[in-house]
Amino acid sequence: MQAQLQHFANYDPLTGVFNRREFVRLANSELARAQRYGHDLALVLIDIDHFKAINDQFGHDTGNNALACFAASWIAEKRASDLFARWGGEEVILLLPVTNQQQARQFVERVRTKALNTPVTVNNEHLAIKFSAGISAYTSGETLEQLVQRADLALYQAKQNGRNQTVIAELPSTANH
Ligand code: GH3
Ligand code: MG
Ligand code: MG
Repeated sequence: MQAQLQHFANYDPLTGVFNRREFVRLANSELARAQRYGHDLALVLIDIDHFKAINDQFGHDTGNNALACFAASWIAEKRASDLFARWGGEEVILLLPVTNQQQARQFVERVRTKALNTPVTVNNEHLAIKFSAGISAYTSGETLEQLVQRADLALYQAKQNGRNQTVIAELPSTANH
């Protein structure tokens, strides 16, 4: 019973992956590790493109199924040591230890190609899910909030640039003075 309650508290019921709160808890210790050992760490924030249109065209339940399939495609490609969570709505987030921004981009583009080539089939509908992504590389002394904020700005840029693409975030302007 206790274990079950713990499970509900830490996981997102629709996708079965960590929820935002659990991601934040685990991510903070990853940041501490990167800080301590000086290794690379990349954060990826992903938002499905025009998801409203999927809901409008196929209905909310199909939208839900598409979301669950989308999460599964990231799970299939990520490493066991990568953190993956539902950040909210149709946004997911990844934290990739010992990974620089170019390696993170390669990973994201691998999933993009796979998603384009293998449309998800839900309720007999074939949906090719497109997404935009923002990547930020951890810099020493940075907080999780700052790292996410930079990825969020990059994600916004990816949307502005026409969606279906990945943007790497600028480094912090005031480098921890
Ligand atoms: P874009 O991100 O490309 O700008 O367009 P969008 O249509 O994806 O953007 P927006 O963030 O405005 O809308 C997200 C939509 O996702 C709106 C909301 O109804 C839908 N959504 C959020 N959470 C869920 C969910 O759990 N299930 C379903 N079916 N839809 C969801
Ligand atoms: Mg969206
Ligand atoms: Mg969104």
